[in-house]
Amino acid sequence: MSNDCCGGSHKKMLLLEQARQRIHDSIQPVSGVEQLPVRDALHRVLAADVHSNLNVPAYDNSAMDGYAIQGSDIPANGTIRLEMIATSWAGKPWSGTMQAGQTVRIMTGGKIPQGADTVIMQEDVETDEQFIQIGHQHKPGQHLRKAGEDIAKDAVVLPAGRRLLPADLGLLASVGATQISVRRKLRVAFFSTGDELCSIGEHLDDGQIYDSNRYTLYGMLKRLDVEMIDMGVIRDQRDLIRQAFQEASSIADVLITSGGVSVGEADFVKDTLEEMGQVDFWKVAIKPGKPLAFGKVQQALFFGLPGNPVSAMATFYLFVQPALKWAMGQTEVFVPRLKVKAAEKFKKHPGRLDFQRGILRMEDGEAKVYSTGGQGSGILTSMSRANCFIVLPLESTGVEAGEWVEVEPFEGLL
Ligand code: AMP
Ligand code: MG
Repeated sequence: MSNDCCGGSHKKMLLLEQARQRIHDSIQPVSGVEQLPVRDALHRVLAADVHSNLNVPAYDNSAMDGYAIQGSDIPANGTIRLEMIATSWAGKPWSGTMQAGQTVRIMTGGKIPQGADTVIMQEDVETDEQFIQIGHQHKPGQHLRKAGEDIAKDAVVLPAGRRLLPADLGLLASVGATQISVRRKLRVAFFSTGDELCSIGEHLDDGQIYDSNRYTLYGMLKRLDVEMIDMGVIRDQRDLIRQAFQEASSIADVLITSGGVSVGEADFVKDTLEEMGQVDFWKVAIKPGKPLAFGKVQQALFFGLPGNPVSAMATFYLFVQPALKWAMGQTEVFVPRLKVKAAEKFKKHPGRLDFQRGILRMEDGEAKVYSTGGQGSGILTSMSRANCFIVLPLESTGVEAGEWVEVEPFEGLL
């Protein structure tokens, strides 16, 4: 790794994109592949393109309950009577051939009979016994779902690198796929560092706090469907840190720690890392979360997140989450941003890209974003109350109410 990034405060800070690019460049997706039944493949990443060996739909069928006719029978004006000769149900097709002047009663999903090319919806038809009467307001070819219009035979249904979502399971089922090739799960080990930290259930002595980062990390990792190895709290001692790194790097693909990466703090963490692997201590020009360590310990990717609870979450979302997705073989990894109206003034100092915590909602027909209030990097309630990051550009000096701002929603429909 190059050396223009790290160390003292006089050194240049990395931009978000530069840091992400370096992370991307150092990642090889896991090579292991497993075959899973469709349902078990939810949230897993496809190891290979999935091709369809059939058309979906498999045959031309009706989009409506109505009557199949020949488009050329539609009158130029006035009405026409057609003879009703059969019925085509979904799952029970009529196998005959229809002639001009005839019609076949058809249900939604019913196979279009030979000789027909158009459907008239039943609401537009007058019937008497064996005949129907239709007007001239119809278009030849209407209300038909063509064979292969959703998925054509031999087409790529889903590309390698796709993280499978509910719609994808349906797509896989609709082409009859049974076993799906996905990348194996990532193994991610994590621990917190700090002499002040207790785990929940332990007694808090004076000067101690509960470790919250391991719980936010658990939640964020759980949603990425990785295999987790929670190594607990490691005290600020060189030998314990070294031992934890050794253990983690021998069992995990990725190691994530929090705490001990800010300037002047617990330098032996830094020393130990440098002695055991290749690790850069970065200052990335973002807020919150300026100090961040990234590198490798043996074969494991390493992320050293800042200890402050908001910074730990923000740096996870901004760097670790995309990195884990790349390592899982996923190709689309970033959350799309939206432009919405600032509902109030947002203060900012120029020099860093700000990820303030916001509450996005619709008001008077417009998407607006509010601040969650106090933006200190220790205020974890700001993450809990927020449903988006408000992204304020590096050189911005703040935003007035009513101006446009970019937001990154925390949750999507998918
Ligand atoms: P550090 O990065 O170790 O200097 O920690 C910065 C701040 O975050 C300090 O106030 C720590 O007490 C706090 N902190 C560090 N780790 C955690 C944790 N796991 N849970 C909650 N707070 C933490
Ligand atoms: Mg610490």
